[in-house]
Amino acid sequence: MSDVVTIQHALRTAAEQLRAVSTTARLDAELLLAHTLGWSRAKVVAERDYALTSEQQATFAALVARRAAREPVAYLTGHREFFGLDLLVDRRVLIPRPETEVLVELAIAEARRYGNAPLTIADIGVGSGAIAIALAMHLPRAILYGVDLSAGALEVAAANIARYHLHDRITLLEGDLLAPLPGPVDLIVSNPPYTILNEIEEGVYRYEPHLALDGGPDGLDCYRRLIAAAPAYLKPQGAILLEIGAWQAEAVVHLLNQAMPQAEIGVQRDLAGRDRVVWARNPHVIR
Ligand code: GLN
Repeated sequence: MSDVVTIQHALRTAAEQLRAVSTTARLDAELLLAHTLGWSRAKVVAERDYALTSEQQATFAALVARRAAREPVAYLTGHREFFGLDLLVDRRVLIPRPETEVLVELAIAEARRYGNAPLTIADIGVGSGAIAIALAMHLPRAILYGVDLSAGALEVAAANIARYHLHDRITLLEGDLLAPLPGPVDLIVSNPPYTILNEIEEGVYRYEPHLALDGGPDGLDCYRRLIAAAPAYLKPQGAILLEIGAWQAEAVVHLLNQAMPQAEIGVQRDLAGRDRVVWARNPHVIR
C-alpha cells in the first residue's frame, strides 16, 4: 500500500524544502501545486484533504526541486500577476516586480493631465509588456509604443498584448532605446536595466535575462544614454518617468537636470519607502 499524500501534507513538505531559498516558501508551494493541478490557488488551499495521484506528486516534486535550485516561481508556472493582469513570462523576459506598479501609477496620473485628449506613450525596454499593457488598460485614449533590443522579449510582449486584445493600441518596435520611435511622444516610461550584476540575488542572476538587468559598472549606463536622447523625443510639455534602484535617485535627478534644465523634477518612493521612480516634466508652454 502506498502512502496517501494529501494537499495539506504535500504543501507542508514542500514549504519546508523551500524555506532555505525563499522568504515566501508556503506561497511558492501553493502556486506550484495550483499549477500542477491546473486549479486556482484558492481551490488548492480549500481542498486540503484531496489525495494527489502519483503522477501529480511526481510533477509537483520536480517543480519544487527546480524552485529549490532558485528558479523563480513565475518561470515555473509561466505566469505572473502585475497590476491586476495575468501575464505570460519565460526566461526571455524579466519577471515584473510589484514595485514597478509605482511607475505605472505615476504614469497614469501624468496621463490624466491630458484629460480626454489622445496621447502617445513610449515604454522603453518593454520586456513582457507589463507596463505598456497596464497603461493601455487604464488609459483608453493612449496610443503606445513598446521598444526592446531583445527579439525574444518582443515575442513574449506580443503574446501578452494579444491576450488583452491591444494590438491596435500598442506597437512593438525592435531596437535600441528611443531610436526606433517614429517621432516625439507625450510620455516616455522605462524600467531600464539598472543593477550592478555582481550585486544581485543569486536566483535573479542565474535565471533572469542579464540584458534586462545589467546597468553597467555603476548601474547608470542606460540612464545616461536614455536621458541624453530624451529631449529630442519628448513633445514640448512631455514627461519622462524612470524606475530606479533605491540608491540612484540623486544621480538620475542630476542627469535629468542637465538634459532638461527647464523641467520640473521629482522622486517617488515605493511602498517599502525606497526611492523608486524619478520623473521630469517639460515646462508648460504659453502660446
Ligand atoms: N528590480 C530588479 C531587481 O532588483 C531590477 C530591475 C532592473 O534592472 N530594471 O532585480
